[in-house]
Amino acid sequence: MADSPESSAEHDVVILGGGSGGYACALRAQQLGLRVVVVERGKLGGTCLHNGCIPTKALLHSAEVADHVRDSSSVGVKASLDGIDMSAVNSYKDGVVGRLYKGLQGLFSAAKIELVEGTGRLVAADTVEVDGRRLTGKHVVLATGSYPRTLPGLEIGGRVMTSDQALLLDDVPSSAVVIGGSVIGVEFGSVWKSFGVDVTIVEALSRLVPAEDEVLSKQLERAFKRRKINVRTGAKFESVVQHDDGVTVTLEGGDTLDADIVLVAVGRGPRSEGLGFEDQGVTTDRGWVPTDDRLRTTVDGVFAVGDLVPGLQLAHRGFAHGIFVAEEIAGLRPMPVVDSGIPRVTYCSPEVASVGLTEPQAKEKYGEIETYEYNLGGNGRSQILKTQGLVKLVREKDGPIVGVHMIGDRMGEQVGEASLTVNWEAFPDDVAQFVHAHPTQTESLGEASLALAGKPLHAHA
Ligand SMILES: Cc1cc2nc3c(=O)[nH]c(=O)nc-3n(C[C@H](O)[C@H](O)[C@H](O)COP(=O)(O)OP(=O)(O)OC[C@H]3O[C@@H](n4cnc5c(N)ncnc54)[C@H](O)[C@@H]3O)c2cc1C
Repeated sequence: MADSPESSAEHDVVILGGGSGGYACALRAQQLGLRVVVVERGKLGGTCLHNGCIPTKALLHSAEVADHVRDSSSVGVKASLDGIDMSAVNSYKDGVVGRLYKGLQGLFSAAKIELVEGTGRLVAADTVEVDGRRLTGKHVVLATGSYPRTLPGLEIGGRVMTSDQALLLDDVPSSAVVIGGSVIGVEFGSVWKSFGVDVTIVEALSRLVPAEDEVLSKQLERAFKRRKINVRTGAKFESVVQHDDGVTVTLEGGDTLDADIVLVAVGRGPRSEGLGFEDQGVTTDRGWVPTDDRLRTTVDGVFAVGDLVPGLQLAHRGFAHGIFVAEEIAGLRPMPVVDSGIPRVTYCSPEVASVGLTEPQAKEKYGEIETYEYNLGGNGRSQILKTQGLVKLVREKDGPIVGVHMIGDRMGEQVGEASLTVNWEAFPDDVAQFVHAHPTQTESLGEASLALAGKPLHAHA
């Protein structure tokens, strides 16, 4: 076992929060023979399952089907889109969430993991209190996640909503202003456009998905323009006024945008206020809980995982953190989870997927680098699917591939191979010699590697 404070604790691990980070930690800890309890105030599964990844991807799938129907005649299929039935969309989405929720509850009960319902608070370094009940643990894992942020002057309510309310809409608005052009903003913008909504995305920075390599932002903006999604980059929100029949958003400089609804998608903040972390000596930074690379907080025996820890806010990072902490507590000395090795997918149409360093980050780290952009125009499967886009590889000069950046419909599915490439520090020649099945979109990764290894095949200049 890892070092822990002397205690007569009834549990080995007390986990505060049952989202991706918390429940993954519980399942792994139980497999390792540790006595675990999870405290959850909402539903086991947290944001990802109930208000995040899963319901949004279900909406994106309905959106994709709508686009296919709309475009069916271009592949010789006669069909017409009669409309979007939001109550049926919601039952499909809720059905997916419900089945996964049941499955997760089943995993917990099969593993006999104790789940305590209620809002917990850290009341000592080894104790979480829930409704007067004190749960003591040799180790405590903080996994309370994040909440949707807003901006000053942008009060949530009525027609102004965050992703939480947007997921519950029971009809299709005729127009929407999305404030924030990062992952959540572009995903909702993409869904709504496919559902027939007039969408305007407002982003304060100079490009959409600003955390991605610039080439992906440019391609996405072009694709959105083709889809007639209005994009206002470098535009800052100033104020919003709600009327009986709509909202008016004013941007800095005076431009106004009228719409049915406004989605506020300006990022997520840490859920830590009032939970006793600082009182017990856990250092926080504007609410985040910074940790060392072994996910230890500043208090012995107290760990933090998932969105609460500054860095990428992704469910699979939470899973990896949770598993890491369980194994660390069990004394297995696991490899740390490094953010730069975590794959990222934005599931709008077209999809944006990446792993590793962007071109500027690689330049800063390695000095000399090489890049190659493979256009999906040369990829048979992408042509069949009628999608455009590219795969960009970034390598250290004469060294391994350190970044993969992709855009195109379904390209999110290729991120597994991209992740192996970057995390195993593969050279272009290594990837090039793997035979990729034809015609698949994975060939684009092989082709890009072939080109970077100096032997391009289906590569157009
Ligand atoms: C719209 C949207 C789409 C997303 N899409 C994706 C995606 O496609 N892919 C992806 O990887 N990520 C996605 N994410 C991000 C992903 O949902 C989060 O990264 C992930 O849920 C973080 O897991 P977590 O365990 O840290 O926190 P959470 O999932 O937020 O879990 C924290 C849990 O703690 C509970 N809790 C909080 N405080 C207390 C307390 N005091 N007592 C008891 N319980 C408490 C909460 O109820 C919650 O269940 C999306 C997020 C959103 C909002």
